[in-house]
Amino acid sequence: MQTRLFTENKLVVATHNQGKLREIRALLADQGVTVLCAGELGLDEPEETEDSFVGNARLKARAASKASGLVALADDSGLVIDALGGAPGIYSARWAGPDKDFAIAMQKVETKLSKTASTDRRAHFICSLSLVWPDDFDVTVEGRIDGQLIWPPRGDRGFGYDPIFVPEGYDLTFGEMDPDQKHAIGHRADAFAQLLRASFGK
Ligand code: IMP
Repeated sequence: MQTRLFTENKLVVATHNQGKLREIRALLADQGVTVLCAGELGLDEPEETEDSFVGNARLKARAASKASGLVALADDSGLVIDALGGAPGIYSARWAGPDKDFAIAMQKVETKLSKTASTDRRAHFICSLSLVWPDDFDVTVEGRIDGQLIWPPRGDRGFGYDPIFVPEGYDLTFGEMDPDQKHAIGHRADAFAQLLRASFGK
């Protein structure tokens, strides 16, 4: 993996997702960096045309860096379910439909799982983070957390698929867990730890 130190005092986060923005702001809180967001700067969201988390994270960060002239950070993440051959994967957001209704997406997961012959409920979240400079240099990493899917959903503290995901070694779903704890153990935290090592000298 290529590395470069981040020496600027601000960056733009290429997301319009408030849940992700909240987590990223919390994870960058100690870095003394002003965090702007693509929505506030009026930047458009590009279509996610790549076939991997890493590819889509890089594509989104590149577009935001180009449009703003700033270093940009993008996250591409999703839920990967073993018994569904890796679905919804990079299509995790799209399973929630145009209204971004995750009650529908979670129900879709459960319906598909109940139709498989397998009782395997293993899943993992992936988070790819890409930091792109205006000269197009990028540092891109991928974090992961393993767990099990439960039904019915429990908890309303997180976002997306959090209410059906119980991380390995815990009894609570991400939707029930204290957000600080989720931020400390999750896929985004894993990716952030790698990014901090690669670009923030931590
Ligand atoms: P994208 O990265 O914008 O394509 O969206 C990824 C989608 O994956 C989100 O909209 C969520 O549905 C799901 N996802 C990613 N990270 C998490 C998480 O930490 N908790 C719950 N769902 C997540």
